Amino acid sequence: MGKLFFVDLTKCTACRGCQVACKQWKQLPAEETKQTGTHQNPPDLTYNTLKIVHFIEGKFNNKFDWVFFPEQCRHCYEPPCMGQANLDDEGAVIQDEATGAVVFTPLIANTDGASVRSACPYDIPREAKDNKGASKCDMCIDRVRENLLPACVLSCPTGCMHFGDEKEITEMANKRLAEVKKDYPDAVIGDPSSVRVLYLFQYDPKKYTSHAIADASGVNPLSRQELFAKLFNRNKQA
Ligand code: SF4
Ligand code: SF4
Ligand code: SF4
Repeated sequence: MGKLFFVDLTKCTACRGCQVACKQWKQLPAEETKQTGTHQNPPDLTYNTLKIVHFIEGKFNNKFDWVFFPEQCRHCYEPPCMGQANLDDEGAVIQDEATGAVVFTPLIANTDGASVRSACPYDIPREAKDNKGASKCDMCIDRVRENLLPACVLSCPTGCMHFGDEKEITEMANKRLAEVKKDYPDAVIGDPSSVRVLYLFQYDPKKYTSHAIADASGVNPLSRQELFAKLFNRNKQA
């Protein structure tokens, strides 16, 4: 069955506790940043920033709103990043049997980081400076194996982030979606059958970021199945 996250975006206050907790647990260095007119800081995921809270302001259903989207790897059930990376080194990415976590191993350094990134429908991995490999969230697999919550979930003070067994979290997400729909009729859970991070978007997910859901991006229009077929054919030709 494995584990799932549920992230109820109606409850996110953009406190960025999750972003800081991720840095802290992973002992990743801070980024050099500058003010760009938004509280979103750093502006994007990087090799050393595995979680980022997006700040999005604009018109949603003809009303002004300011919404927040704490983004991380979705831990896809069939991860295209794994298909791509393991072409270069077959141990580069593994899928943990007990949790379903998609984990980059040290062998990821033998892969072409930019290709791994471009295989991801959510544009999550970030390549190393020398392009030898890439990095991303690993579901805090070390903590989860010790029955601890992922650091980001533990730090969330508003009840936005949840983590647990697949069945329990799926039920929680569906129940909350039904409640939220009373105030936000367009609310939806993004790609629920493909990913282990269930985001409850209060508005059309395509209005959040260009890769909030798998088909939101014009950059990578291939479906998961098409990506796998492509990778499979490439393997056969090699
Ligand atoms: S699960 Fe761990 S690695 Fe992933 S975003 Fe949360 S804190 Fe970071
Ligand atoms: S979201 Fe991207 S990086 Fe994460 S498992 Fe899916 S394909 Fe891989
Ligand atoms: S800790 Fe929770 S409320 Fe704060 S930014 Fe992260 S998800 Fe949102």
